Amino acid sequence: MALIVKKPRGTEDVLPRDSYRWQFLEELFRQEARAFGYREIRTPVFEHTNLFERGVGDTTDVVQKEMYTFDTKGGDSVTLRPEGTAGAARAVLEHGLFNDPLPIKAYYLVSCYRYEKPQAGRLREFHQFGMECYGTKHPAADAEMIAAVKSIFDRLGVRGLKLEINSIGCKACRDDYHRALHDYFDQYRDELCDDCKERLERNPMRLLDCKNDHDHEIAASAPTVLEYLCDECREHFEQVQHYLDAAGIRYTVNPRIVRGLDYYSKTVFEFISDDIGAQSTVCGGGRYDALIEDLGGNPLPALGFALGIERLLLTLDAQRIEIPAPAPCELYIGAMGDEASRRAFALCMQLRQAGICAECDVVGRGLRAQMKYADKLHARYCMVLGDNELAQRSAKLKNMLTGEQEEISLDFDAFLSRFAALSAAENYTIPEEM
Ligand code: ATP
Ligand code: MG
Repeated sequence: MALIVKKPRGTEDVLPRDSYRWQFLEELFRQEARAFGYREIRTPVFEHTNLFERGVGDTTDVVQKEMYTFDTKGGDSVTLRPEGTAGAARAVLEHGLFNDPLPIKAYYLVSCYRYEKPQAGRLREFHQFGMECYGTKHPAADAEMIAAVKSIFDRLGVRGLKLEINSIGCKACRDDYHRALHDYFDQYRDELCDDCKERLERNPMRLLDCKNDHDHEIAASAPTVLEYLCDECREHFEQVQHYLDAAGIRYTVNPRIVRGLDYYSKTVFEFISDDIGAQSTVCGGGRYDALIEDLGGNPLPALGFALGIERLLLTLDAQRIEIPAPAPCELYIGAMGDEASRRAFALCMQLRQAGICAECDVVGRGLRAQMKYADKLHARYCMVLGDNELAQRSAKLKNMLTGEQEEISLDFDAFLSRFAALSAAENYTIPEEM
């Protein structure tokens, strides 16, 4: 039988030696979300297909081309989530969270699935951290959302991300804009790609998002949405900018940003990295005041963002921002002989209960090979138990960094307090907070 050793295209493994980078980011996201008053929401990895058709929008690339959709054995059509918002919005409705004090604040850490052409920064399985806020129309909420993202990048020391903002208006002002776009693009109908010919009829704003070069050139001179905003949307957008100004957050207004999902209205924003090639949007977000209604609920304004974790990691790599590697094994207990090996095993168990990362041989290696392994682990301390040590109830504890050795009692309480003191003295503890 052929060995199955290839992961599906567009997916990535995170290996044990690298997972600390993910864990560090995830912990930072959680801390940040907590600081802004957000609690985690977990929703299923698959949903009924029509949730995404209605939520994300059936004129989007995501719904038209990129979804992993299949029929269950029972004959239901389900889809692996291509993004996090639709599921969260569905849960808000299903569980009546709108009866809770508003705004409802939820964050998610999810894997997402899109059948896209894999390339740097574009995968078929990727991961997002996102925040969702339901129940406020106020422009301060838009600015706060943007500030939350900015604060994450600042804490990581990421430099030079561009924040671009725009307002794409509400359903009311978009009608006029759609007509203007239609009239504009209609002149170039023959030159447009096939997708855009169809988009022109169904949702002309989608043309602004076309990745085809020629269409992109045509789109560059298209009328911009800002000229068509109604008074309410214009006022809202101005207020968002005032709040950002007040918080000292720098941005540029880019009237070309429309975002790839249909549910957006009013504010949209992107954080863009110059360091990671063509797939440069690390984070995208905005307002989606009509989403809950589109899903069949009573009107409930909402907004949020999603940050692509793979693209953030690429940005950190490009900027040589190192994530602190976790502390290695604190103590390796080598053993010579059966009795010593059982004592090492028991001592390790006690030390682990005290929160210390201790290891001993579970492979059946000889002492030399055990010590070689301890070296490769970068164990901070090593100790060897043999007949003598057991008889004397003490052993030599060696600091592997300095080479210093000292005699340490094997009586557990004495051992633990001395070991803890040594660790503390060299300021070596497993970091609780990163
Ligand atoms: P793009 O412009 O790259 O197509 P998008 O507009 O489809 O992005 P969203 O749906 O808003 O992106 O998703 C938010 C974030 O998720 C993106 O800014 C990006 O960081 C990340 N993301 C989206 N699609 C992918 C993908 N296929 N692979 C990796 N990350 C992705
Ligand atoms: Mg996309």
